[in-house]
Amino acid sequence: MIPGFLARHVFYPAQEALCGRDSIPYWKQLEQSQFLDPDQTIDLQNAKLRRLIRHADEHCPFYHEQWRDAGIDPTQVNHIHDLRRLPILTKDEIRTHRERLLAQNHRGKIIQSCTSGSSGSPLIFYVDRRRERSDIAARLRAHRWFGLAPGDPAVYLWGSRIELDHHDRLKAIRDWLINERLLDAFQLSDSQLHRYADVIFRTQPLWLYSYAGTLWRFARFVREHRPELKGTIRRVAFATGEQLLPHWRSEIIAALECSVAEEYGCREGGLVAHECPEESYHLSAENIVLEILDEHDQPAPPDQPGRVVITNLEAYAMPFIRYDTGDIAAMKEGLCGCGLTLPMIHRPTGRTFEFLETHDGTLITGVSISRDLKEVEGLAHYRVVQETRSRVRVALVTDSRYVVSTGEAVIRQRIQARLGPATQVLMEYFDELPPHPSGKYRYVINAIQSS
Ligand SMILES: [Zn+2]
Repeated sequence: MIPGFLARHVFYPAQEALCGRDSIPYWKQLEQSQFLDPDQTIDLQNAKLRRLIRHADEHCPFYHEQWRDAGIDPTQVNHIHDLRRLPILTKDEIRTHRERLLAQNHRGKIIQSCTSGSSGSPLIFYVDRRRERSDIAARLRAHRWFGLAPGDPAVYLWGSRIELDHHDRLKAIRDWLINERLLDAFQLSDSQLHRYADVIFRTQPLWLYSYAGTLWRFARFVREHRPELKGTIRRVAFATGEQLLPHWRSEIIAALECSVAEEYGCREGGLVAHECPEESYHLSAENIVLEILDEHDQPAPPDQPGRVVITNLEAYAMPFIRYDTGDIAAMKEGLCGCGLTLPMIHRPTGRTFEFLETHDGTLITGVSISRDLKEVEGLAHYRVVQETRSRVRVALVTDSRYVVSTGEAVIRQRIQARLGPATQVLMEYFDELPPHPSGKYRYVINAIQSS
């Protein structure tokens, strides 16, 4: 283990400098701006927005032509409320016009990245150093809310193919120098989990960072096979990438005996919000303007769920202006007891592809299905895939307490109660459910939307 002060003050800044990112000075700015008066935060957003809109108009052919054809004068977009004058950017538009979304004047390194494709085909996009550092700084700030600093021992149970492809020897050494360990979330067999448990036991990390579903699976493994790991994650487990179900959270807390906090964002849009120790979800307002829209694309009132549409104020190589993320959330009013003045949202309730559809198109949240199936005795893991509005396929992993006849009857009855009595429910049994290609544990998938 590298001494904390060396990792924090020497190796971590050196890593950021080598990568050409000024994450640390920007992080210091965020530490100040998180206590601004809400009006000052909006002023800061407005100033950044004006600059971004001028940039996109001058340098991105897609935005320039789209706005000109729609008769929009971008110089009239001066306030975050003026964003409503601009069209919404869809995933399909990004797929079709990717190169025209790229800023023609861009200098410096850009990284091609892509989403996992969990809601359909993967989305390829570009990220520059500026966007990267804004996410890193927002994460450093959020970790600071839990008393953590770069260089503190940490374990990442992560499976992004992009990171793993580059996870060569050099990166392993770099991780070691900043007290970070990377474990592959794609490999979750019992023997691998035992090995990971050994690493965590040895490292005694202050935090563990993983996909929500992977953390839950790891917590279950710890409870059943390695209870001595209780308390070895000394501060907090950060869950991201997919919705953290309430019962996952309580099982993780019980098995690992640490706090749990959720990071909400998306690879293409950035780090949108982070849960604080008071369990509020604070927006990264200096980096992102978030809109919650109803079915008519109008702003949804506070507490009303709607589509999450974001504008990333720090993405210059490929600006994301009014990007429809496909997520569902609601704005939350009031002040948080933690003292931060950053705006808040309610706990994100999932993504549109995590909702199943009844025959008339009503959306049923995956959480309700999860709540129903939680009560099935002996059901260890499952994945519900809706193939059509009248057919659902359920993959099941069961243990010795499971009784096929009763189990199947309950599962069928619960799903039909949600989706309609005529719904065909097909069940298949597996020894182990492989993670989704993204590394995430998808427990409900709407394949109608994905197809
Ligand atoms: Zn708070």
